[in-house]
Amino acid sequence: MISITGLGAGQNIQNPLVDQFLERLTRTTNGVVTFYILNNLLRYAARPNSVPKMTNFIRGIMQFIDTPVRVSMRFVNRTPIIIDSFSSGAVDIDDMLNASDHSFQLSLMHLLTERFATMGYVLLGPQQRRRVYARSHNLALDSDVQLLSNWLNDPTIRFNFQMNGANREIMLFFSSQNPRYLSIRHSFFETLGRDRTTSDVLIELNDGRLISLANFLRMNPSSIPALP
Ligand SMILES: [Zn+2]
Repeated sequence: MISITGLGAGQNIQNPLVDQFLERLTRTTNGVVTFYILNNLLRYAARPNSVPKMTNFIRGIMQFIDTPVRVSMRFVNRTPIIIDSFSSGAVDIDDMLNASDHSFQLSLMHLLTERFATMGYVLLGPQQRRRVYARSHNLALDSDVQLLSNWLNDPTIRFNFQMNGANREIMLFFSSQNPRYLSIRHSFFETLGRDRTTSDVLIELNDGRLISLANFLRMNPSSIPALP
């Protein structure tokens, strides 16, 4: 179960940004699964016989929704938070909506994995959450690796390191043995003062070019320079 609060949430949330979030989530399934909120819980409706068309991402989200344990996402808007705050429970909906499709899926899976991996997440205060964060974050990095491996059909992807760049940019680097690229990064950077984060998944090619995962997957494999 995933409870949604914040942004004037009452019994049933009526907020255009929350609607956009639900539409975005529905879009990642090509309309096979529709997401909605009822009694502050995120729910889904899957089309009959749609299971074979589901991606690992959408299966994962549905499993979270079906889990009897409840975690929370408290939506906030245009805050200095970069995507989410594990300790406060906040999720910056503006940052989520400004993520590329791949980044949106990675971040949502990451933050939910982190929260579900934490025993009694909703009962813990910020201090207690900070104490258990490292373990939960590491499990969420494993889920990042699984999604990336799935998209790139590359079982050799591993989390490598996190780097904080200039202007509060954050990059999660992943390594791979695949000769078609050098590294993969999930990159978060500020684009509207401190209050908006834009994010994307980027692939570093062997010739030094940095391109989005979406463009990489659209490229003709023969146009990708292999390792010399
Ligand atoms: Zn994390």
